[in-house]
Amino acid sequence: MSPVTSSVAQQLSMFSLEGRVALITGASSGIGRHLAQTLANAGAHVIVAARRAAKLESLVNQINQSGGHAHAVDLDVTQSRSVTACFDAIEAIAGVADVIVSNAGTTVAKPALEQTEADWDAVLDTNLKGCWMVDTEAARRLVKHKKNGSIINIASILGARVAGAVAPYSASKAGVIQSTQSLALEFARYGIRVNAILPGYVITDLNSEFLLSEAGKKLESRIPARRFCKMQDLEGPLLLLASDAGKAMTGTAIAVDWGHLVSSL
Ligand code: NDP
Repeated sequence: MSPVTSSVAQQLSMFSLEGRVALITGASSGIGRHLAQTLANAGAHVIVAARRAAKLESLVNQINQSGGHAHAVDLDVTQSRSVTACFDAIEAIAGVADVIVSNAGTTVAKPALEQTEADWDAVLDTNLKGCWMVDTEAARRLVKHKKNGSIINIASILGARVAGAVAPYSASKAGVIQSTQSLALEFARYGIRVNAILPGYVITDLNSEFLLSEAGKKLESRIPARRFCKMQDLEGPLLLLASDAGKAMTGTAIAVDWGHLVSSL
């Protein structure tokens, strides 16, 4: 191997997740399902977690058939007992998780005057409290076992700007960004990094009805690069934050949005 080839290989090896145990929540569909395969491709033993067991099993089969290594664990992020049980199961299956992608999320799209207390609670409990419970339980285990780790919260550009009909969602994601920074501050001393990715709009089950409508097409035309994100656009930023390539990064909130966020500044 020439010295140049060898240095390229060395640089790329910084992005490797070989030997890591990666938990990804909300892996039964959409972005989580896609990024679970990304983590496995990078060499991690991936634990895919959510409530829909059949969808997780099909993902586990897909990853294992592609040469990766995956297991499914049942998880409802709104229930602290479920979160604890999930981490107990991970330790029994693979050891302590040292890459944690808090991706589980939900929304209720309605004008603010029609949103109910139950709508608010459903969105905030899943997106903000659920993320916080997963992140802190992950850190508790890492600290106990004196292991370094990387926590990546999937927030949203709607945590940093607003849009109509998603007030609870925007509030929850703003909270995720603040929680990311607070936990980064407290966990740095333990060698645990905490960062957030703020995706722009990606067409998934969460929003396809709107994004594929005429109003969605108008929205796309207002994004500086005139395009929505694809799930593949999130792969590089995820691997940067998860791996040693991003070892000095903590407390950041990285927008991956084709410029959507700066268009509103
Ligand atoms: P999907 O609806 O496709 O996926 C949401 C995932 O979250 C599902 O796997 C679901 O699994 C899981 N989930 C929901 N509630 C819970 C719960 N209580 N416990 C455990 N898992 C839960 O949406 P996306 O893939 O689009 O969203 C993934 C993340 O990306 C979310 O946090 C979302 O806010 C964020 N995001 C999405 C954007 C987009 O444009 N799509 C843009 C910016 C951010 P199950 O029902 O099986 O439990």
